[in-house]
Amino acid sequence: MGNRELLEHASHLLPIYRQPPNVMARGEGSRIWDADGREFLDYSGGIAVLSVGHCHPKLSAAIAKQAATLMHTSNLFYTDKELLFAEALTRRTGFSHVYFGSTGTEANEALIKLGRRWHFEHGHRERTGIVSTWKSFHGRTLGALTLTGQPKYQEGMPLISDVSYVKYDDLAAMDAAITDQTAFVILEPIQAEGGILAPSDAYLRGVRELCDARGALLFFDEVQTGFGRTGYFLGREHSGVMPDACSLAKGIGGGFPLSAMMVSKKLSDGLPVGAHGTTFGGNPLACAAGLAILEIMEEENLVENARVVGAHLGEQLDALAKDASLPAAVERRGRGLLQGVRIAPEYDARDVLFAMREEGVLASVAGGDVVRLAPALNTTRAEADRAVEAIRKALPRVAKKA
Ligand code: PMP
Repeated sequence: MGNRELLEHASHLLPIYRQPPNVMARGEGSRIWDADGREFLDYSGGIAVLSVGHCHPKLSAAIAKQAATLMHTSNLFYTDKELLFAEALTRRTGFSHVYFGSTGTEANEALIKLGRRWHFEHGHRERTGIVSTWKSFHGRTLGALTLTGQPKYQEGMPLISDVSYVKYDDLAAMDAAITDQTAFVILEPIQAEGGILAPSDAYLRGVRELCDARGALLFFDEVQTGFGRTGYFLGREHSGVMPDACSLAKGIGGGFPLSAMMVSKKLSDGLPVGAHGTTFGGNPLACAAGLAILEIMEEENLVENARVVGAHLGEQLDALAKDASLPAAVERRGRGLLQGVRIAPEYDARDVLFAMREEGVLASVAGGDVVRLAPALNTTRAEADRAVEAIRKALPRVAKKA
C-alpha cells in the first residue's frame, strides 16, 4: 500500500500531532523510506532516539532472538537480561542502582516519587518542594507535566502541588528558590525541547553546591542528552557535575520503548518495597535491546562519533547562521549531535522543515523557533553535509510570515 491508500486510515488516530503526508514504512541507518518508496535522510532521529540508527542488524538480531526466547515475566521475577543490563548500565554511568521503565516521562515520575519519598523515609517530612526551570521539558504524565515549565502544555490539566519554577542558567534565581523545604531540584543538562539551550558549566556546579549546602537533592533529566547524544555518554559530563539521580530514555532503547532512573548509593533506600512499580519495566525484550545498544556503541565508538561528526555539523551550521545571504537563520545552538538553528521571528520554523523535506531531509522543531537536528549517533560527515545543504537550499524558499 502507498501513502495515499494508508492515509485513508489517518482519521482513526486522535489528531494530537501534525504529521506530514509521508507514511514511513522502512528504515536503515540514517535513511528512511515512505510507503511510496521515497527516501529521506532522517535527521529528526526519532527525536534523539536513534542511538545506533534505524534497524542496526545487531540490534534487530538481539531483539528477534530475545523475542523467540523470553519476552516477558513482569517484575515478579528477575530475568537474565535485566540483571546483566543493570550491571552494565550502572558500570557505564557511575550510578549504583537502576529502576527500569518504558518511557521518559515514566522515569521522571519515578524521580518525583524517589525525591519526595527519600526525604520522608529520612524524617524530613517538611521537604516536599520541587524546583524546576522555565522552558524545561520533562514529559506529559501529570507529575512530569507539572515539572515541565511551559504553561502551554499545562493548560487545563490537573497538576501536582509544591512545584516552583526559576529561569534556567540563572544561579541567583536558583539561590532564591532552594529552601529548607526543598526536596529536590530537577534540570536538563541542556534544555532540549526548550530550544537547545546549553547553560554554563559554572551554573550546574553552582546548583550542585546550593543543593548540598541546603540539604536538597539534585536530579538531572538526561532523557534527551544521555546516551552519547551531546558527545559524552551523559550530558552531565560536560560540567563534571554528578547529580543524585537521573532519568534516561530515548537513546537507551534506540527505538525500543525503554527508560531508566539511575540512582546514587545514597538514595538507594528511597523507595522501599511496594512504594513504586510497573508491569513492563525492565522486561527481558527491552533489556536485550539495551544490552545490544551498549555493545554497539562501544564497538563502533559512537560517543566519539557523536562528538566528532557533531563538531563538524556544528561548524557547518555556524557558518550557515553567519551567512548574511540567509537572514532566516540567526544562531546555531547545541553540542554533539544535538544541534539546532534558530530561525528569525519573521519566519516559521515549520516552513523550514517543510522545505527541507522537499530536499529529502527530515528534522524537527524545538522551542517553537529552532530547527533541531538529532540524527543517529552513527551518522557520517557526508550525511551531516547533506543535511546542512538541505537547510541552505530550504531557507531562501521560506516566505516571511503573513
Ligand atoms: N524529558 C526530556 C528532556 C525529553 O526531551 C522528553 C521527550 N521529548 C521527555 C522527558 C519525555 O519522554 P517520553 O516522551 O519518552 O515520555
